[in-house]
This record gives sequence, C-alpha cells and structure tokens, in this order.
Amino acid sequence: MEKNLTMDKLVSLSKSRGFIFPGSEIYGGMGNTWDYGPIGVEIKNNLKRAWWKRFVQESDNSFGIDAAILMNPTVWEASGHTTSFADPKLDCRECKTRHRADNLIEAHSKGKVNPDTMTTEEMESYIIEHKVACPHCGRFNWTPIRQFNLMFETSRGVTEDGQNKVYLRPETAQGEFVNFLNVQRTMRAKVPFGIAQIGKAFRNEITPGNFIFRTIEFEQMEHQLFCKEGDDEKFYNLYKEKAHSFLLDLGIDKEHLRFKDHDKLAHYARAACDIQYLFPIGWSELNGIHNRSNYDLSRHQEFSGKSMMYMDPITNEKYIPNVIEYSIGADRLMLAILCEAYHEETLEDGETRVVMKFHPAISAYKLAVLPLMKKNHSEKALELYHKLSKEFMCDYDESGSIGKRYRRHDEIGTPFCLTVDDETLNSGTVTIRDRDTMKQITLKIEEVEGYIKDKIKF
Ligand code: ATP
Repeated sequence: MEKNLTMDKLVSLSKSRGFIFPGSEIYGGMGNTWDYGPIGVEIKNNLKRAWWKRFVQESDNSFGIDAAILMNPTVWEASGHTTSFADPKLDCRECKTRHRADNLIEAHSKGKVNPDTMTTEEMESYIIEHKVACPHCGRFNWTPIRQFNLMFETSRGVTEDGQNKVYLRPETAQGEFVNFLNVQRTMRAKVPFGIAQIGKAFRNEITPGNFIFRTIEFEQMEHQLFCKEGDDEKFYNLYKEKAHSFLLDLGIDKEHLRFKDHDKLAHYARAACDIQYLFPIGWSELNGIHNRSNYDLSRHQEFSGKSMMYMDPITNEKYIPNVIEYSIGADRLMLAILCEAYHEETLEDGETRVVMKFHPAISAYKLAVLPLMKKNHSEKALELYHKLSKEFMCDYDESGSIGKRYRRHDEIGTPFCLTVDDETLNSGTVTIRDRDTMKQITLKIEEVEGYIKDKIKF
C-alpha cells in the first residue's frame, strides 16, 4: 500500500480500469451502490473462492449452504433485529443532513470517548455539553437522537398491509442458524461442526460511504461453528487465528492488521473482537469474530417451537450448542485488497507506473497473451490464448506498443504477460514477464501451463 493512497485515487482507478463503477451511473447514480466491472467481478469471485476453499473445503466438518434472502419475518424477531438492530441517528435542522450520534462523538473526541458504552441519553448530553457541530454546515441545531432500524422492509404479495411485511436480510447468519438441524442430520455432522455461507445482505445505513467500505447492499462471508459449552473459548481463539492467517495469506501486511476487542458486549456474548485494517480512512473493522454462547439457537427454539437440541451420539448428552461466529464482508475485503495491492513506482526512465500487486490467485487475469507484432505473431498468440483459457483466465491484447500493454496489465494486476515473438515461431519458446519484478524468463510453450498453475495456487 502507498502512504499517499486516497479513496479518490482508488475510485478513479477502479472506474477507468473496469474494477468497480458507480451504480446506475447513466441515471445520475444511486447513492452508495456500486457495480463490479469485468476486472472487479473476477477479483471478488476469486476472493470468495479463496475464502470458501479455506473455510469449507479445507476445514474439517464444515459445510456450505446458500439460504434464501427473504426469510420468515419471525426469524428477525427471534434474532432481535426487529427491536434492536438500530443506530442512533440525528438530523441537522439547518442543512438537513443525517448523522450517526456515535460517529459524531467518536470524531469530536478524536477517539478518546467510546460511544459504544453510552446510552442514548448520555450521547445526547455529550453532544449538547460539547456543542458538537454539524460536520456538514458547522452549525449546532440538532433534532433529538432517534434509534433508526437498519432493516430494509418490503412487502410480499398484492396488498401492502403490515401482514405482508418482509425484510431483506441484514446479515446472512440467520440462514445458517435456521438450517442447523437440516445440515446436522443430512451430513451426519457431529459437534463441533461449521456452516458457512456467502451471500448478499442489506442495511439501510445512516451514513454509508467511503467507496465500498459501507454500502447499503453488500456481500458477507460467514462461518458459524457449533460447539459444546466449555469448548467455546478454545474455538473462539482458533477462529481469531484462522481469520488472521487468511488475511496474511492473501498478502496483507501484518502491520496493516490489528485485533480490537469490543468494549461493550451484547448480554449473551462471551467475547467479541474485530480485525481492523489500516484503510486510507484509518483503522476500521474488516471482520468480526464473536463467541455468542447458545443464544441464537435457543432463541430459534423459543420462537419456532422446534427443538434445537443436539444429541451427542457417544455420551447421549442433549444440549443446545454454542456458536462461534466469524463474519467478513466480501466488499470490505475487496477494498482492503485494492488498498494493499496499490503501488506507484518510478521506473529507470523516470516514468511512473501504477501496479496492482494482487496475490496471483486473486488477480482477474492470470496471464495476458501478447503478440509482439500483430502481423506476424497474432495467429500463434491466439492459438495459445485459446488453449490456456481452458485452464485459467487469460486476456489477449494486440493493440498498442508492448510497453503500453505491460502498463495496462500492471494497472489491473495481471501477474504474468506472455509474449509471442519470432523465437516462438522458430523454436517454440515464449517470454514470460513478471508483474512485480518486471524480469522476463524464457519457457518452452509446453511448460507455460504448469508454470502458471504453480504460481496461482492459494
Ligand atoms: P460496522 O461496525 O462497520 O457497521 P458491524 O459490526 O455492524 O459493522 P457486522 O454486523 O459484524 O458488522 O458484519 C460483519 C461484516 O460485514 C463486517 O465486518 C463488514 O466486513 C461487513 N459489513 C457490515 N456492514 C457493512 C456495510 N454496510 N457495507 C459493507 N460491508 C459491511
């Protein structure tokens, strides 16, 4: 990551290079929605694949699901979202902007006061006492603080009365909880076991922003580990460690990551922490790990009237398992990966290159196939491109000087460029240029597939 990296630079590169575009742009946009372009969608899919590989494929007793976004509304009563999934909001009467009270206090006190431990009344007193001004217009004329529920509501069917109210899920976790017994039975799973899911979640955030850091529609990657009372602390620590190693293995510098324990725990929680990343906006949450006791399954047992008991086949003990939750936003991870990959380098000839140093497993294209001269080399290059595209994502690029094509692929983070030249036609060899070192090696055509496959492992 560059020291002088700003969100604006990332937004601009993302737009010009096909990572991420503003949502509904031709209609003037739709605040805080973003569309992934051809390069961005590959990177995000690769991140999701890497996560699934680590937390499902390579994790013992871990199973994936894909639950419905719209769930029976009682789910959100059981989970507590209808009553307490709210942020403290207040409006500036002068400029009509809306703000989160906790954010105002945190910013005003420069992080010295922790609003998470305050009641609504305490927050209100703080704002009045310290005359915290509106960050937008600088004036001090606030409405009282109101708790604002973040769930998006919609209605199902033809009439729009309260009977048909449904919610767009604000988290994927409940899909895992309500399927606990389905997965346990069908997979003959024994506690401890995990259920994982990747999917969209929706939150009517009061202050969305900072590019894809906080949006109203985003994807979560969540893993719930079901374990026995007494084993929860061990698994909580294990998942902290697993979540951290996953980020390091993606190539994130350990100096850009830190653990942050939650100061205020929900009444049922035994422990909770975030892993924060040093975004250009400062240290902010990248993912959360929570020891949630047996609260979630107990609540679903209470509200659904269905037993959530697990019977240990060896000891015949019956109990409701505890849950260790690990949750990371795919888009927030994408942002961290974009920040981490971004480098500006001054080359020997004085030119600057922007290079996105993604882990090769995460890059959109693994290989760009470039004919040195279109006239002489494109036929062979296209043949290679079609052959190698069956194995991994390749790009074919014949326009502009070879230097320009290298720069283009540096900017989208393609780890390797293969050049087809006269030597390819005469002796069956190609050159492979490494994105980071810019060094070139010569390989026989038959060696290319194995060489790249080895480099793109995760
Ligand atoms: P925050 O404090 O940033 O609002 P949270 O503590 O409410 O986040 P969780 O409910 O624990 O977040 O969600 C798990 C993960 O989902 C977060 O760590 C983050 O990566 C991601 N996430 C949550 N809200 C958003 C959002 N509005 N936009 C993008 N990603 C989000």
